[in-house]
Amino acid sequence: MRRAIIVGGGAVGLAVATEIADLVDELYVVEKEKRLGEHGSSRSSEVIHSGIYYKPGSQKAIQCIAGNAFLSEFCKSRSVPYSLCGKLIVAAKTDELPALDFLEERARQNGVFDVRLIDADEVKRMEPNVRCLAALHVPTSGVLDSAAYLHTLKIIAERKGVHLVCGTEVTAIKRRNEQFAVTTKVNGEMQEPILVDILVNAAGVYADKVAQMINPENNWKIQPIKGESMYFHPNREELQTGRHLYSAPLTYTLPDGSKGHTTGVHTTWKLDGRITVTPLYDTHPKDKEDYEITHSPREFLQEITGFFPHLKEEDLHPDQAGIQPKLSRGDFVIEPDKEYPDAYHCVGIDSPGLTASLAIGKYLRRMIEKDL
Ligand SMILES: Cc1cc2nc3c(=O)[nH]c(=O)nc-3n(C[C@H](O)[C@H](O)[C@H](O)COP(=O)(O)OP(=O)(O)OC[C@H]3O[C@@H](n4cnc5c(N)ncnc54)[C@H](O)[C@@H]3O)c2cc1C
Repeated sequence: MRRAIIVGGGAVGLAVATEIADLVDELYVVEKEKRLGEHGSSRSSEVIHSGIYYKPGSQKAIQCIAGNAFLSEFCKSRSVPYSLCGKLIVAAKTDELPALDFLEERARQNGVFDVRLIDADEVKRMEPNVRCLAALHVPTSGVLDSAAYLHTLKIIAERKGVHLVCGTEVTAIKRRNEQFAVTTKVNGEMQEPILVDILVNAAGVYADKVAQMINPENNWKIQPIKGESMYFHPNREELQTGRHLYSAPLTYTLPDGSKGHTTGVHTTWKLDGRITVTPLYDTHPKDKEDYEITHSPREFLQEITGFFPHLKEEDLHPDQAGIQPKLSRGDFVIEPDKEYPDAYHCVGIDSPGLTASLAIGKYLRRMIEKDL
């Protein structure tokens, strides 16, 4: 009998579960919270990314581009609300124009061929409320209802016989003969270890800690970066938009001094009728579950008023914060453990991890199937 465990019940853990359920006799998804998907997966911008930002050949580029297609098809066939509304990445100032050229070239290198550089007149026709010099139109970007997506993954996993065990924290993992002995804590009480043959680490911001439980030689260090958002209601004509609006990409500095690159501050068109403005970053959150919003409406406004001038401070309301699990290498780690190859790591799954989740599930399935 072959038994497997997935540590972490977010989008990645659940997507992997739906993909590998038939490869094993018994599969457990173990989640420390009382409900699935309470952390990164329910605190994202819900954007279906197209894959144009990431270095060609990187895991982020590969899994995001594949994930965009899988997720769109999944939402369509399973009636998960979504829209491929598209997005504009805008240059409001001359010094932002080279970023658009760079991204257009990167999109081409990544095989996202429908991206187009458009001038201010065309932007005006598409989005009359936007002011800019030029923009990159990305039609395959979209938005989904992430709660409905997680719920659908949960239903599929249950139908496939996966045991979804919430309120259960994995506290230790030891190699015992050819298996892993996984110790858990429930309501503060340690449980008898469960023996498994295959283990998947999908623990989000704690994936570095779980990786060390498996093999103390693992030294990935996740740096938690808090992304905060506000929202407004497009209740005046001049606040309406039909697609996501992104400023040129940003560079940030991680606590270890390394530089990271990310999408610019953006307005995200939501399926519930709101528009969010996100993210403003806090690179030194109190801990990995610090969800306090520390930036003011004025600070959010400053970031977008250059290209979206009619929004006022009083239109903005606090929305939410989420923690991105950043690695200084800037890419996803999706690989078997170097010492114990029956354990598979998903570490540093920051944005576009939601978009990529189904692709990561299929990628891990191929890896596990090959090793069986
Ligand atoms: C602010 C923000 C905006 C984002 N925007 C986007 C976006 O627009 N588009 C996009 O594609 N991606 C976006 N992302 C990224 C995306 O949300 C994540 O990459 C994705 O949700 C990661 O899923 P996950 O399952 O790896 O992590 P999580 O959803 O965090 O799940 C990990 C789970 O593991 C559990 N866990 C941890 N340790 C243990 C343990 N020891 N025992 C048991 N359980 C444990 C946790 O409780 C958690 O539920 C955003 C992220 C943030 C924070």
